[in-house]
Amino acid sequence: MLRLIGNTVTKLSKCSYSAQAIPKPVESPNVLYSGIFINNEWHKSKTGSTFETINPTTGKVITEIQQGTKKDMDLAVEAAHDAFKFGSVWRRLDASERGRLLNKLADLMEKDAGYIASLETLDNGKPYHEAYSIDVLGSIKVLRYMAGWADKNHGKTIPMDGQFFCYTRHEPVGVCGQIIPWNFPLLMLAWKIAPALTTGNTVVLKPAEQTPLTALYVAQLIKEAGFPPGVVNIVPGFGDAGVALVENTKVDKIAFTGSTEVGKKIQKASGEFNLKRTTLELGGKSPNIILADVDIEKAVEAAHFGVFFNQGQVCCAGTRTFIEDSIYDEFVERSVERARNRRVGNPFDPQTEQGPQVDELQMKKILSLIEQGVKGGAKLLHGGERHGEEGYFVKPTVFADVEDHHVIAQEEIFGPVQQLMRFKDLDELIERANNTNYGLASAIFSKDIDKINYLVQGIKAGTVWVNTYNVLSPQSPFGGFKDSGHGREMGQYGINQYTEVKSVITAIQQKNS
Ligand code: NAP
Ligand code: MG
Repeated sequence: MLRLIGNTVTKLSKCSYSAQAIPKPVESPNVLYSGIFINNEWHKSKTGSTFETINPTTGKVITEIQQGTKKDMDLAVEAAHDAFKFGSVWRRLDASERGRLLNKLADLMEKDAGYIASLETLDNGKPYHEAYSIDVLGSIKVLRYMAGWADKNHGKTIPMDGQFFCYTRHEPVGVCGQIIPWNFPLLMLAWKIAPALTTGNTVVLKPAEQTPLTALYVAQLIKEAGFPPGVVNIVPGFGDAGVALVENTKVDKIAFTGSTEVGKKIQKASGEFNLKRTTLELGGKSPNIILADVDIEKAVEAAHFGVFFNQGQVCCAGTRTFIEDSIYDEFVERSVERARNRRVGNPFDPQTEQGPQVDELQMKKILSLIEQGVKGGAKLLHGGERHGEEGYFVKPTVFADVEDHHVIAQEEIFGPVQQLMRFKDLDELIERANNTNYGLASAIFSKDIDKINYLVQGIKAGTVWVNTYNVLSPQSPFGGFKDSGHGREMGQYGINQYTEVKSVITAIQQKNS
């Protein structure tokens, strides 16, 4: 069962899900906003084009969205640039006032939490109780945490040589282009806009084409909260909007969450026009290591959650489960049993654990990787095919005897597919765990503190969880080693990514000179 501690997701044993606190969903929420949000106003696309957003549970169109292209993106950047000008309303606001505005936005989201969670479930397909507890409440936590930083991100006085007074100022970077993914549409919006705004930047955000609805609703709340025009601009697009943002020379920083493939393109383009700061949070193929001394029942449940949470569409999913030889067979058997019991279906049903994948493309990509897993020689023990005929559901899938060279042990599947792998020796295990281009997250399950400490040092990953999985919170930094990206989000480390450090050095006049 899931529990939320702040914006922390943990898996508890099979006790009851505390459903009392969750309001009833709105199963057919009205879509109120589908335009382009610039300068606190709604606009139509300059080209007149639109694109469809789909309900992945049924495959049916929800609504048409205004398609932002280069012209719209350039207008949005211009608005953000104007809002950032020295002397503008936004630049002159007290820092504490920026915090107050973020808290106000959090209040407004809290008021509409049930509706926003319903909109997320409609557009993305994730179970409503998770959309509410994790995405919406988690986003509110992020806004409030970051609001607290607004008047606390101060510099230092530095005892420099000579007759000088040196201090540092932490100043905003400027116009931040933010491109967010579809797996946690609202939460990723909060992860991006909250640190940017609390530190005084302005924003042009592009939601994923698959899931624009919650970002557009929140745009209206941003206006209602009282943010000045141009401080946050939201441009839904499809195909060329991201490129237009990255190529615009008035953008000072790009923050991107998505695939490594696109991350590399963004990094390259960010150095080609003006030199943009970049933070990239990309893919993963995270190792989840289970030592023989664990409580097997708990470890099986945690490993299941580590892979299947959010339909497997999680960048830090524990997709390579390494199990120590002596418990391997029992672990495999119990993992299959757990996957068999996973409840797949209507995401608005409170009993549902797994909804559809986000779209047909993702579903097909997952099914094709499953096929490659079978062809490669891994043992398919459960699932492996589409669930039902309507919507984009994939059966919870378990592979055993997966070997390091198998495609499914190397490529990010981004779906409900578990890979169980056997290991015997710890040193060899470290090599194998690191044998991937990725380095986002990892986990170790054991009671042996010496082995845990040894593994913690050896694993190349931005996060190591010990005896838990998928625990994320606004206070602790998150980000990747290697091809999983660079920079950190959340916590003080995340704040640093949205500020420039200015050294101010003043000559001190001696009394008699
Ligand atoms: P993606 O390819 O990583 O990202 C697509 C987003 O990037 C779109 O919003 C797109 O916007 C923009 N984009 C594409 N090319 C760009 C460029 N050259 N410059 C700037 N922006 C660009 O995501 P996807 O196609 O939806 O998913 C592919 C795979 O990515 C998934 O299967 C999964 O493995 C991984 N993924 C990872 C995460 C994560 O949390 N790390 C999240 C989602 C997906 P425009 O088309 O409008 O330009
Ligand atoms: Mg959709």
